[in-house]
Order: sequence, then C-alpha cells, then structure tokens
Amino acid sequence: MTLLQVEGLSKIYPDGTKALDNLNLEIRPGEFVVVIGPSGAGKSTLLRSLNRMIEPTNGKIRFKGEETMGIKGKKLREMRRHMGMIFQGYNLVTRVSVIKNVLHGRLGYMSPFKGALGLYSKSDTEAAKSMLQRVGLYEQMYKRADELSGGQQQRVGIARALSQKPDLILADEPIASLDPASSETIMHYLYTICKGGGHRLPVQSSSG
Ligand code: ADP
Ligand code: ADP
Repeated sequence: MTLLQVEGLSKIYPDGTKALDNLNLEIRPGEFVVVIGPSGAGKSTLLRSLNRMIEPTNGKIRFKGEETMGIKGKKLREMRRHMGMIFQGYNLVTRVSVIKNVLHGRLGYMSPFKGALGLYSKSDTEAAKSMLQRVGLYEQMYKRADELSGGQQQRVGIARALSQKPDLILADEPIASLDPASSETIMHYLYTICKGGGHRLPVQSSSG
C-alpha cells in the first residue's frame, strides 16, 4: 500500500525559477523519510506542494489512493486535515495559550473566535489536553505560547499536528532553530510517532 505517490512533480515559480523538476517519490505507511539538500534545493517547495500550499506546475500527487491535484475547497481542507504540518518557526499563535494553539489545529483553524467564546467542546478540550500530556507540556497548557522555550514550542507544534490524527506528518526543517538537546528530543518524538508509538512518548522535563 502506498500512502503518498508523487509522479513527475515540477514547480516553476512565476519568475522562472525551476524549484522542482520532474520529481518522483513514494512513501508507504510507517516510513520515516528525510529530505536532505542545501538551502535552495527545493525542500520547502516540495513539502508545500504536497499539501498544496503551493500550486505545482505539473505532476500527479496521490494521497491515500486519491488524486489530489486540482481538488479545492472542502475536499482540499479534508485532505490537509490528514496531513499534519510542522514548521521551522513553530508557526504558533504566540499571544494565545498553548492549549488554544492545539485546539486551533484540531478544529482546522475554522473559527478563531470559537475559543474566545468558549465554544470548544469538552471532548475537543480533553483531546488537546491529552496531546499536551504526551509531549510533556501538561503543566504549561495555560501559558502563552511565546513564554515557552523553542523546544517546547516545537512540541506544541507536534501536539497540534497530532491532534488532527494525521496519516502523514510533513515537517519542514523542524529542528533548524533548536539547540542540539531539543533537536534530539523533537527528532525522537517524530520517529516514535511515525513508528506507531505516539501514544506513549518518553516524558521530558519541561526544560528541553
Ligand atoms: P528555506 O531555505 O528555509 O526554505 P528560504 O530563505 O529559501 O528559506 O525561503 C524563505 C521564504 O521565502 C519561503 O517562503 C520562500 O518561498 C520564499 N522565497 C525564497 N526564495 C524566493 C524568491 N527568489 N522569490 C520570492 N520568494 C522566495
Ligand atoms: P529549500 O527549502 O531547499 O531551501 P526552497 O524550496 O525554499 O528550497 O527554494 C527552491 C528554489 O526556489 C530556490 O531557488 C528559491 O530561491 C526558489 N523559490 C522559493 N520560493 C520562491 C518564490 N515564491 N518565488 C520564486 N522563487 C522561489
């Protein structure tokens, strides 16, 4: 079974930059794939093409057996729900609490006002808390995201991605701005999650 199948993927930016040239890639469930290359090689372009944050110029992308090129609206949002995304810069809403950041992910960013109005359901809230427990941030859940260390913020990013129960996690340089110890923790988490052990991640001290 193939989880993701990419055929002949190309991306030429409007200014003529050829970032991807006829790329083929296949990922099976449980596979941990690392894309390595110098800055400018096209890594971000590839990841953003997979979830269609960037519109590829050419090629085919099949995700869970379904052609994703050209899908729009509700179908596109549905596909993205199954692709968790983790970024280098954490991409958290810095002014709101850790738990709200996780809840936003779970609700697919549908309504930023929902939380302010206290409209998160009990089951959403419980699920978010359990994700935060998994990444060792239960104690920090009501802190503002920007009060956490870089490594902790990236763990929030992981909890947020996991809360969507994704079939695939796309991580774009997830450790680029972290110190070696935090980097090791994050890579260990991602690997453990990939291999199906995400429900019992090793508990970390709150410092890393
Ligand atoms: P990284 O190497 O970490 O991917 P880059 O510096 O290449 O970061 O890119 C940072 C952002 O700038 C990305 O959103 C990318 O799409 C955009 N970008 C990079 N190169 C160009 C360019 N030549 N013209 C316009 N935007 C660019
Ligand atoms: P990487 O993630 O490997 O650093 P990128 O995917 O960010 O590489 O960039 C691949 C190439 O595409 C680079 O030459 C970059 O300058 C260019 N590029 C990225 N984003 C844009 C953009 N929005 N417009 C034009 N060129 C871009």
